[in-house]
Amino acid sequence: MRPLLILLVSLVVFNLRLSSAASDPINQSLLRCLSQTIHAGEASSIIYSKSHPSHSSVLRAYIRNARFNASSTLKPLIIITPSAESQVSAAVTCAQRLGFRLKIRSGGHDFEGLSYVADEPFFVLDMFNLRAITVDMADETAWVGVGATLGELYYNIWKNSRVHGFPAGVCPTVGVGGHISGAGYGNMMRKYGVSVDHVVDAKLVDVNGRILDRKAMGEDLFWAIRGGGAASFGVVLAYKIKLVPVPEKVTVFRVERLLSENATDITLKWQTVAPTTDDNLFMRMLIQPVTRNKKKTVRITVIALYLGDSDSLVSLLSKEFPELGISKQICNETSWIDTVLQWANFHSPTQPTALLDRNPNDANFLKRKSDYVQKPIPRKGLESLWKKIIEKAGRINNGRILRVQSMCINIIHVYYTRGIF
Ligand SMILES: Cc1cc2nc3c(=O)[nH]c(=O)nc-3n(C[C@H](O)[C@H](O)[C@H](O)COP(=O)(O)OP(=O)(O)OC[C@H]3O[C@@H](n4cnc5c(N)ncnc54)[C@H](O)[C@@H]3O)c2cc1C
Repeated sequence: MRPLLILLVSLVVFNLRLSSAASDPINQSLLRCLSQTIHAGEASSIIYSKSHPSHSSVLRAYIRNARFNASSTLKPLIIITPSAESQVSAAVTCAQRLGFRLKIRSGGHDFEGLSYVADEPFFVLDMFNLRAITVDMADETAWVGVGATLGELYYNIWKNSRVHGFPAGVCPTVGVGGHISGAGYGNMMRKYGVSVDHVVDAKLVDVNGRILDRKAMGEDLFWAIRGGGAASFGVVLAYKIKLVPVPEKVTVFRVERLLSENATDITLKWQTVAPTTDDNLFMRMLIQPVTRNKKKTVRITVIALYLGDSDSLVSLLSKEFPELGISKQICNETSWIDTVLQWANFHSPTQPTALLDRNPNDANFLKRKSDYVQKPIPRKGLESLWKKIIEKAGRINNGRILRVQSMCINIIHVYYTRGIF
């Protein structure tokens, strides 16, 4: 028995040595290649090979879905963390020359981990250092590095103006690179459309390592990287966006109803009012399983942002949606930046600097899916939805499982946020 055991152990040790030695030649080749275009010292400081002691902490920092942080998930051979545009060009050229697939990561929020997961040996180009934001109030625009988060963008706009904003997502740690290249949207979309409706220029590294602006890349490519998923076309370095006006005072409210409090009727009505009401009003509906008197039920929550004051909001909804029971008392008149914080679930009052917190290493296990429902769901459909939610709720620890959100036309957006599948 004993000799066999010794043999097994030494084989394992030998294999480990072999694999770490095998990763070094790749590291060396990449370093050599990068050094041909950028300074050698620069090159070595942006490369994290698998044997680098910080490889796993750099990778983990922007993994936002813990499902892809398992020991069985294939990890990148090398992570490249450029801090200058020329380094991005060099990385694209060298990854190609060495024959490795390059995954591009900005904020790491991809639902399926597409920015840092692959099924073949690969490199990650991690853009978090390229996050400069320059706001130009003279022409109401901003250049935003793709590694910036939406929270950092909103904060920088607020620092420059109390009457400007940008219509993008509600989660402040989402990265600008993936969000804008995928046409991200948020709670001002009924008034202003989606983020890419306000992109006026961009800087992209193409497959040959050239840095192109809108004029140089041409309108077709510029169109594609605004919603077509830019990773298929190159590496976006930055987007130039046009800011949108927001009133100094806007209004938010939140209304919760259980099934026993007419939630089904309110949902039916919400489906017709939310997509057609005044463009200044966005009403999201959240549907959650809850327990009341030891019985499982469903609670709906209508969360709203209105680009105006509470008097006109109350007057609008008392005509269009009296069932919701909106009064001035439940409305909160505040600044746009404060609503950004509230929508991100910060308790009031929280300072806007909270938006600068990137929360690295913050990942939940999640499965999300979106669907576009083009006709209102009828009463029967809602009732079967409630049944399903109640049925599944027990298995998922009363967690948030389903969110329904209104969109600009007659579309309802359904997110399964946890554990349904
Ligand atoms: C908690 C949470 C909340 C969200 N809230 C919203 C919301 O309110 N509204 C909304 O519309 N979406 C929302 N999303 C979805 C989110 O906008 C997308 O997943 C977006 O792609 C994430 O961008 P990222 O840079 O953080 O992700 P990453 O994982 O870094 O990138 C996502 C994709 O874009 C590619 N990519 C990233 N950067 C670049 C680049 N510089 N050049 C080329 N390709 C690049 C990646 O390769 C990957 O395929 C949310 C997601 C999560 C997890």
